[in-house]
Amino acid sequence: MSVQSDTEELTETDVVVVGGGLAGLTTALGLALEGTDVVVVEKSPRLGGRAQSWVDETTGDPVHIGPHILLSEYPNMLRLLEILGTEDRVIWQNDHFLTLTEGERAIPTEQWSLPAPLHFMPTFILDDRTTLPEKLSNFPVTLYAMQMQEADVLRLDGMNAYAFLRRMGVSRRYIADFWSFMCMAIMNVPIELCSAGALMRFYKRFIGHSGFSFGFPDGGLGDLFAPDAKRMIEQAGQQVMLESEVVAFSGDEDRVTGVKLADGRRIEAQKTVAALPPQALRALSRSEWVDRHRLFADLVHFQPCPYVSSFVWFDRKLTDLKMWARVHSPNDLNCDFYDLSNIHRGWEDRPSVITSNIIYCERAAGMSDEEIVEATVGEIAEFLPAASMDRVEHWVVNRIPMAIHCPFPGTERRRPPVNTPIGDLWVAGDWTRTGLPSSMESACMSGWMVAEQIQEDLGRGRPSLVVEYPEVEGVTGLVNRTSRYLPGRNLRRWMRGIRQRVSEEIAS
Ligand SMILES: Cc1cc2nc3c(=O)[nH]c(=O)nc-3n(C[C@H](O)[C@H](O)[C@H](O)COP(=O)(O)OP(=O)(O)OC[C@H]3O[C@@H](n4cnc5c(N)ncnc54)[C@H](O)[C@@H]3O)c2cc1C
Repeated sequence: MSVQSDTEELTETDVVVVGGGLAGLTTALGLALEGTDVVVVEKSPRLGGRAQSWVDETTGDPVHIGPHILLSEYPNMLRLLEILGTEDRVIWQNDHFLTLTEGERAIPTEQWSLPAPLHFMPTFILDDRTTLPEKLSNFPVTLYAMQMQEADVLRLDGMNAYAFLRRMGVSRRYIADFWSFMCMAIMNVPIELCSAGALMRFYKRFIGHSGFSFGFPDGGLGDLFAPDAKRMIEQAGQQVMLESEVVAFSGDEDRVTGVKLADGRRIEAQKTVAALPPQALRALSRSEWVDRHRLFADLVHFQPCPYVSSFVWFDRKLTDLKMWARVHSPNDLNCDFYDLSNIHRGWEDRPSVITSNIIYCERAAGMSDEEIVEATVGEIAEFLPAASMDRVEHWVVNRIPMAIHCPFPGTERRRPPVNTPIGDLWVAGDWTRTGLPSSMESACMSGWMVAEQIQEDLGRGRPSLVVEYPEVEGVTGLVNRTSRYLPGRNLRRWMRGIRQRVSEEIAS
């Protein structure tokens, strides 16, 4: 890497990575550890992007941009943490799966030691919010998900999930109780606005693996990866530049040769990685790219899903739960709640610090921060009646323009692969075509993908960085592998009938 002074400062490197979020840092680390020269350029003074955290000035406590969960099924993010030596800073909830709440009532959802999807069967049967016929109405769609392949996801992408479930015969009540919650919590949009393909792909994974657990950062979310990634990249002799905004790509309509920064500096690179959210990439894209290439023309379809996250410090302990979620109601504000005093090591004796997410939060747009905190404390109090504004010592409200892109119908098939039609330009980020919901895991996976491809493109061999997902297991796995050869004419005909129904729905 060389730096020259001319009229404008110039840095030369093998690879420039634009964006210091999870995708950018994963890419840069993957390359740096393989001995490739890399410069990371981040516009903000802090690394971590949408998974950043900082210290609250009043309390000295870490505050995330908003509470995040990891899943035990995040092999690519866990690989990053393992390399950084921080995987022991994830606190896993292993004693139960999830607590749903309805008023003061806690509805535990457990997983049993049974092959997938039977691991959820006792919880499913014991759930008294729906009748047996309503539960059974979900059976055909479950069977359909079990045999789904990636091509089915893309075929279903044009439909909205509500219409798909209804036409598959799922009862309104079952959709309201189960699917609407899953859609909002995981896909982050109301079910009527969600791609059926994106939702069904997640459902297949959900019913295809047993032993899921949720994990939470012990301390600041960004501290799980950002400082150690920076340290390791720099120890490998590479560079991480903060407060350095990229304002343009260098090169021409066919090839990118580096980037230009807002302060006039330039970085010349053999390869450029845009580890940016779609809107930021669009702002930097040349108009010829938008005119000529679908990837760039399609960026406009990745609409941001805004969040509001609150942190509320109470004067007393309110619960011993780490996490809970309200059963879904479209008029609720918050979806998921976390008591950090039961998560962070050494905080056991502290009063509750409850943080929560308002997902797809346009219904909070007209509310002041004070009104949001009051309404949030009201929702906490429905489950924990000891909570009240009199017991609040401090609060923080974060308004986040984009947590992920909205998986609206038609979006899934627009998610691009990481290599672009422009020479020497790659894209990384949670929104790229990873086959996963937009998430920290998707961001990390895309980062490993780009690092692998660039190493190979530079003629330095292809390292093995991406952790591939295991196939679905248990009964789901069996159905997935053999549904076309089901024993028994009736069963085979029945399955074919379900597939045909789906095809007809898509065609209509
Ligand atoms: C409140 C909230 C809750 C969430 N909950 C979860 C959860 O529970 N589980 C989960 O897995 N995921 C969750 N997510 C999503 C997760 O945080 C993101 O999917 C992930 O962090 C995206 O990483 P990324 O690297 O792809 O993008 P980003 O983190 O957005 O990184 C892009 C970086 O590029 C920088 N940048 C932009 N423009 C420029 C420019 N011109 N020049 C230089 N730098 C630039 C940005 O500052 C940013 O640092 C949540 C997100 C939020 C906000």
